[in-house]
Amino acid sequence: QQRQYAQELSFKTVTQDGKRIYLYINSGLLSSVDSETGSDSDGIGLYRTEILFMIKQCFPGEIEQLEIYRKVLKAAGDKPVVMRTLDVGGDKPLDYFPIVEDNPFLGWRGIRLSLDHPELFLIQLRAMLQAAIGSEQLHVLLPMVSNLEEVDLALIYLDQACQELTAELGKTVTMPKVGIMLEVPVLLYQLDEVAKRVDFVSVGSNDLTQYLLAVDRNNPSVSPLFDSYHPGVLRALKFAVERCNEYQLPISVCGELAGEPIGAILLIAMGYDQLSMNQASLARINYLLRRVSQTELNQLLAQALKLNSGEEVRLLVGQYCEQKG
Ligand code: PEP
Ligand code: MG
Repeated sequence: QQRQYAQELSFKTVTQDGKRIYLYINSGLLSSVDSETGSDSDGIGLYRTEILFMIKQCFPGEIEQLEIYRKVLKAAGDKPVVMRTLDVGGDKPLDYFPIVEDNPFLGWRGIRLSLDHPELFLIQLRAMLQAAIGSEQLHVLLPMVSNLEEVDLALIYLDQACQELTAELGKTVTMPKVGIMLEVPVLLYQLDEVAKRVDFVSVGSNDLTQYLLAVDRNNPSVSPLFDSYHPGVLRALKFAVERCNEYQLPISVCGELAGEPIGAILLIAMGYDQLSMNQASLARINYLLRRVSQTELNQLLAQALKLNSGEEVRLLVGQYCEQKG
């Protein structure tokens, strides 16, 4: 079966009724980028830069970051690369930058930390921009955004980095595509304003689920409650893609859900057409999505959204997946 899936990788993902789906990979370690991007994905949908920061003993400098980002972009050929700015805090600690707080998941995480330390943020942005000079691959992704001021401020720093580099290097460094992670539920209700500011949205379904359900995603005592198939979570995901389509804001999903057969089926049924997942899931998801049709999926989704629990959703959509092999 695995071999059968693997052969599928040479096919682009097109559903039975002709809808093109874009499948990207999540990555974070340079050592894994070569083999991962050598595959037939449509690009890197999430490059977690924090991994680099987590394996070091101190903050990596501009040159060090630049060299690594350059290799990542090169490994992706001419395919797009979504580089997420530093997303530490919460469950991702840095030994050399301890954060002590009572509720880390509600605390100093992601963009909050970068905006409070512009000197670190600017180094990272400058490194990304320099790595991408001469190509259009770079997409900068801002994690854990919870209000519009954060987006506006991040854009000001990005513009500053472009201007500095243009002056220093004597060639025009232009703004890359910029997007935000949709992880904090409140932004679901401000997607119209988000659309005026950025080029794309990427749903972090791991954090979005955690914050919608008020369940710490790493706490074993409440792990049965962490459920991305909770019909309420599914309705939120459907709401997000519908709003983004309305505002012509490209949207993808890069949380674990996108790499799970049941999750991928539901997301495509809702209207998503870009999924980013671990390399290991790619062939299987491609196999599955090439065998479904939107008409079938519409019916399945309507049924799923009427169910009362994640367990019932898994049962229903799991049966459908089995029929597809
Ligand atoms: C997410 O929250 O779904 C996500 C992709 O980000 P991370 O898992 O790295 O927090
Ligand atoms: Mg996240």
